[in-house]
Amino acid sequence: MTVSKHRIGPFDLPVRDLVRKPGEMREVDLEVPAPERWGEGLVAIDEATPIEIAARLESVHEGILVSGDADATYTGECGRCLTAISAPVQVEFQELFAYPGDETSDFELQDDHVDLETLIRDAIVLSLPFQPVCQPDCPGLDPVTGERMTESAGEEQREPLDPRWAALQDYTTDPDTDTTRAGAENTEES
Ligand SMILES: [Zn+2]
Repeated sequence: MTVSKHRIGPFDLPVRDLVRKPGEMREVDLEVPAPERWGEGLVAIDEATPIEIAARLESVHEGILVSGDADATYTGECGRCLTAISAPVQVEFQELFAYPGDETSDFELQDDHVDLETLIRDAIVLSLPFQPVCQPDCPGLDPVTGERMTESAGEEQREPLDPRWAALQDYTTDPDTDTTRAGAENTEES
């Protein structure tokens, strides 16, 4: 009996019992902490966030077909008002881990296991919202004060929030100034 020297990682699933046995199938559930931050945008999966995986391993002639879904929670900030947000993300995946030598597949069986990390990381990162918002109608930040606007303030740009800005508000009614465009952005986008 030989022991594989390959270090088994947290996303590696042993499939020795399925290798070269087309028709055999097994399901496995596991929870793995994200090994690093996943995602480069406003929201991401933080390191150590639990990734819940429900996988189905099927032995086929070409290798091991892996399918299933993965659940995690992303965190970050709203793209409009910068409020901290957090929301669940669920992805489905399916990939053939081919026996070594088959060059048509992106993934290969390594020794007697499949490594799901790249597959699941890519699926999750691609599903993260590119422009995340705290709520669908988030009014964003007030261009004048920089504060998060309430919904009514977003509707009524004509009323200055602060009397000190009243003079500036008059300015923005002139259609030829740049400040007009900045001020009108929220209400008159065409
Ligand atoms: Zn927001």
